[in-house]
Amino acid sequence: MKIVLIGAPASGKGTQARLLSEKYGLVHISTGDIFREILKGDSPLKDEVERYMNNGLLVPDELTIKLVLNRLASDDVKNGYLLDGFPRTVNQAKLFKEQTDIDYAVYIDTPYETLVNRTVNRIGCPNCKKIFNKTSYNSDECDNCGEKLVSRADDNEETVAKRYNEFKTKSYPLVEYYKNQGKLISVNGDDLPENIFEILKSKIK
Ligand code: AMP
Repeated sequence: MKIVLIGAPASGKGTQARLLSEKYGLVHISTGDIFREILKGDSPLKDEVERYMNNGLLVPDELTIKLVLNRLASDDVKNGYLLDGFPRTVNQAKLFKEQTDIDYAVYIDTPYETLVNRTVNRIGCPNCKKIFNKTSYNSDECDNCGEKLVSRADDNEETVAKRYNEFKTKSYPLVEYYKNQGKLISVNGDDLPENIFEILKSKIK
């Protein structure tokens, strides 16, 4: 099975990606994580990627699709995968469709106020990807795997507004794109993660 997840920053994509990939045995591939790995190393792409990410802008489609296809060439994705944060533009989706067809596009529809609140309070586990909210979680260690939790450099109010704007203008058209192909599952993101997960399980065959 191949699933893509669509949603604004902090819409709950990462959490549902983790739950769905566990449930269906899919490899969780996050393009944001791929880019964050590049920033940690000394890749020749580092400066370019950093410029876009730190300004809340999308990395160009050509580079993004190249990295995704490179990742999908690995053996471990043979039994299916879940793409978290890709495609982010209709152009990326079309380029991707030339390579393969997906089964479902899951859109998590979350109100802007919720996104801002979640983003500025978000801390996440770099190991198992579990996400926590600082207002309700009083430890700096992951309760799932014990790793030290980290905040993301681009999780501040100013960058969130830009990322949201990028989402609305460039990514939101994907909802119509996949709806027209009969692949869209849309869920309300302003709900508890476990409720959203239940709805998704009932719709995924
Ligand atoms: P995320 O972790 O999905 O919120 O992504 C963090 C940042 O990585 C985004 O703000 C973009 O700068 C970049 N990024 C992630 N996925 C993509 C993509 N599919 N296309 C372009 N840029 C991306």
